[in-house]
Amino acid sequence: MTVIFSIDAPYRGRYELHRLTYGSGSPSISVVAGLHGNELNGIHSVNLLNKMLRVQRPKGTVHLFPLVNTFGADQAQKRWPFDDQDINHAFPGDADGSVVQRIAHALFQATDTDVCVDVHSGAPHVRELPQVRAPMGGEELELARALKLPVVWRRPGIRLEPTGLVGAWRAVGRRALHVVGGRGITLDNRHATTMANGLSNLLGHMGICRAMDMGGTGTLADVTHAQVETHRASCGGFFVAEVRVGDEVKPGHLLGYIQSPMGGERMDEVRAGRAGIVMTVRAYPMIHSQELLVRVAGTS
Ligand SMILES: [Zn+2]
Repeated sequence: MTVIFSIDAPYRGRYELHRLTYGSGSPSISVVAGLHGNELNGIHSVNLLNKMLRVQRPKGTVHLFPLVNTFGADQAQKRWPFDDQDINHAFPGDADGSVVQRIAHALFQATDTDVCVDVHSGAPHVRELPQVRAPMGGEELELARALKLPVVWRRPGIRLEPTGLVGAWRAVGRRALHVVGGRGITLDNRHATTMANGLSNLLGHMGICRAMDMGGTGTLADVTHAQVETHRASCGGFFVAEVRVGDEVKPGHLLGYIQSPMGGERMDEVRAGRAGIVMTVRAYPMIHSQELLVRVAGTS
């Protein structure tokens, strides 16, 4: 393990950006997790991949950054705790800027590889089926599909912030992928294992090492934004989900209902409009109107 960058902290140990490297030469890949300190599934998936790499001899270079925002993770916070800044909004960073901009700068320099994968969890209030968010076509889409994660979500590049790690690499013509699974604050070992399996599939696809099948469903849905059915709350209330991520649904399937938090009177039902795979489910039940409840990735 190498400390590639460090900063004095006010009272405790220094902030250190750690990197684990396997192999040398090309092709090369960087896998980053924990840019958001409370997104534990990404951290765990990179550490599972690390365990797998220990028993392999990679043909090429793999850089792992299991946990970037260590101080945020300490405090169950997504952002950098001292100034509440999002490291993933600070790319490509600035060597003479704020702490967050300096960390972003160091990480951007250190992930200068053929491919960069940034692994996240969903927000704390939603659970995401492990998915890769990819551009509409090209070699990046091929790499995204090689992960064989449950969902491949093809999105126009313009939707990605150039101040995020993935967006910043894409802005300079580099291949970068955004992987998301589970929810913030909680560890879901099953989803983390699925993501680690996907990362290992990608290393296999790139010829770096043999993919180690740790189990998984393979890709269940490969969709564009237009094929994703998004259900939002029609009113405020208490949402009770009737499905879990990964469930297969048909038109009319009851996805959940909204009830009054006082007395439990049913106020609305949410039903699938198309056949597909449930890819997102609201986890925190207290909802305001218009908030995201369920996403279905269409399969027909
Ligand atoms: Zn995140």
